[in-house]
Amino acid sequence: MILSEEIQNFLLDNAVERFLRYVKIWTTSDENTETIPSTQGQIEFGKLLKEELKNLNLENIIQDEFGYIYANLPPSQGFENVKKIGFIAHLDTSPAVSGKDVKPVIQKNYNGTVIKFSQDNDLELNINDSPQLEKYIGLDIITSQGDTLLGADDKAGIAEIMAACAAWDKFPELKHGPIVVCFFPDEELGRGTKKVNIEKIPKICYTLDGSEMGELEIECFDAWKALIKFKGLSVHPGYAKNLMSNAIHIACRFLSEIPESESPEHTEEREGFYHLSNLKGKEEEATATLIIRDFEIKNNKRRMDYITSLKNVYEIRYLGLKIELNYEHQYENMYNYLKKEQKIIDLAEKAMELAGIEVNIHLIRGGTDGSHLSAMGIPTPNIFTGGLLFHSKKEFIPTLALQKAAEVVIHLAELFTKE
Ligand SMILES: [Zn+2]
Repeated sequence: MILSEEIQNFLLDNAVERFLRYVKIWTTSDENTETIPSTQGQIEFGKLLKEELKNLNLENIIQDEFGYIYANLPPSQGFENVKKIGFIAHLDTSPAVSGKDVKPVIQKNYNGTVIKFSQDNDLELNINDSPQLEKYIGLDIITSQGDTLLGADDKAGIAEIMAACAAWDKFPELKHGPIVVCFFPDEELGRGTKKVNIEKIPKICYTLDGSEMGELEIECFDAWKALIKFKGLSVHPGYAKNLMSNAIHIACRFLSEIPESESPEHTEEREGFYHLSNLKGKEEEATATLIIRDFEIKNNKRRMDYITSLKNVYEIRYLGLKIELNYEHQYENMYNYLKKEQKIIDLAEKAMELAGIEVNIHLIRGGTDGSHLSAMGIPTPNIFTGGLLFHSKKEFIPTLALQKAAEVVIHLAELFTKE
């Protein structure tokens, strides 16, 4: 099915209008808060979306106490038996950069020159640093004013799903089976699925939370956290010979044995790493937090074996030193589950092709709500939103991407009616 020009234009206008409104709502999540959602703004945003979903004739719309939104779109007539699918995006924006008072700016008909920001004279977006820009010459590009992130991660995802809902409402010729729209809180804190009501989620889902146009993500990191506690003994430094076990100094030596070549700044694509994210302490006690990432669990196991062997050596080397090690498995590579669900991946590829987009199967060097959902038995590939340079004041999105991602949602729903 080819979408008419009328529908394509409708999707562009609708998604852009929504996006420009949604980014102005302050929904930055807060890692220092234990509640879900971590911030009240996500509740306020959810309330607005609930109202808008109602106006688009979705049913059983719920905003629960944790801020999750679930809404059901009844199937087109005659398509009641089509498999139910879900489209998911997240309400929060990254706490890495302020998301308060975002003022989106449309750079009309981008001509390839340097983009300046009105609220930060030192900041600029240019093709040398961001070669992706070259692909968008001649298009309209949305940025922030340079004092905040833009919030395309993931308000673009929300705007695109909402625009698809608006098109289903307006153009009955767009056929679809039963659809569930879900918006999750606190994805940026890795808590997006913590309080999810699995009963309300279909058995097949797609997140709209990827980056560049055309990206389809079916693999993410296998992720571990290592908490290392060094317990030493403090003694007056003048009288410490053969007595003191200086925990913080030993911790520094220990951590320096981690291969530099396996760090985030020296790895890319399929390469994994160790990353020291925190170190604190004194003579008596020190703690270090490492995150360990790879696409292959066996490589992460090797890294953990190495740390464990260092612990053993250090406890022998330093009299009186005790090291406590704790490993936490944070999330799994979702490909472990998705590889058994090739059909779900194929349909997403097909939908992108129908929208006229070249598919780029891409690795997520991080996590996604889809990895938790896939592990819970709900295969959930991740589709692009079109936003680039996420979590940055230079974040931008071409308006065309907002339209194309909404088209992908529409095509995908239609493809399922033929399964
Ligand atoms: Zn995101």
